[in-house]
Amino acid sequence: MVQEAYHSQNPYHNALHAADVTQAMYCYLQEPQLFESLTSCDILLGLLAAATHDLDHPGVNQTFLIKSSHHLALLYQNSSVLENHHWKFAVSLMRESGLLSHLSNADRQSLEERLGSLILATDISRQNEYLIEFRAHLDRADLHLNNSQDRHFILQMALKCADICNPCRPWHLSKLWSHKITEEFFSQGDIERRRNLDLSILCDRNTYSVGKIQIGFISFLVEPLFSEWARFSDTPLSHIMISHMTSNKFNWSYPPQENMGETTQSTSSKTLPQGSLGS
Ligand code: AMP
Ligand code: ZN
Repeated sequence: MVQEAYHSQNPYHNALHAADVTQAMYCYLQEPQLFESLTSCDILLGLLAAATHDLDHPGVNQTFLIKSSHHLALLYQNSSVLENHHWKFAVSLMRESGLLSHLSNADRQSLEERLGSLILATDISRQNEYLIEFRAHLDRADLHLNNSQDRHFILQMALKCADICNPCRPWHLSKLWSHKITEEFFSQGDIERRRNLDLSILCDRNTYSVGKIQIGFISFLVEPLFSEWARFSDTPLSHIMISHMTSNKFNWSYPPQENMGETTQSTSSKTLPQGSLGS
């Protein structure tokens, strides 16, 4: 049911992205700090949230829904429009499937609320709020995973990392995700152009390139998030992810010949510090 509720025609926001995020989330849940403290209910919620966090994504962003007066923008009053929709859609699927029907109404409702709070945390426009709180907790060293609120907060951060971890995967995979998201951005731009709407940021294929988008995305969103995550979870996995992210950003900044179709020489493996390229 989850798979069918994703739009297979979306270049990026389809069931494969949901599977990718769920796989990443599963890996983070295995990290020692989390593995030792999470309850089975936390694990269920974390994986469900990852699988459902973009359900029924229309392949256009919130800005587009607002400027085209889409009914979802009206319904959710222009605020976390897509995330609210993904959450409500997930709740409908869970009720329809009877997945939680063995629980009392109160327990089911509390799980549905927690699911919402996890999915709403994936609203990228609110990343700074979460990051500031995360950084403050790490500075004060006051996250205690025997406390259910702190565990929930860490699940939110883990899901946020899983959602935007594609630049932390090895180059041959990361590059594919980058092309898919850019294709989705540019096809939104094409629709906007046809409808005489202002072109949304990053959506104009005549102004932006994949590499330019990736360098900005990694520098302003991925790097800051994963450097805090690595402070919280200082593990081999975090080091590998940061190493991939660093070399991927380098590759976008100094494209290897195969990506450019131009004469630019590949310098990535020659000039990066040893061991930073990963697999
Ligand atoms: P979501 O819609 O839940 O997947 O939110 C993640 C946000 O990050 C979306 O706005 C995506 O467009 C954006 N995003 C994810 N991966 C990339 C990428 N490689 N390059 C640029 N933006 C990305
Ligand atoms: Zn997503």
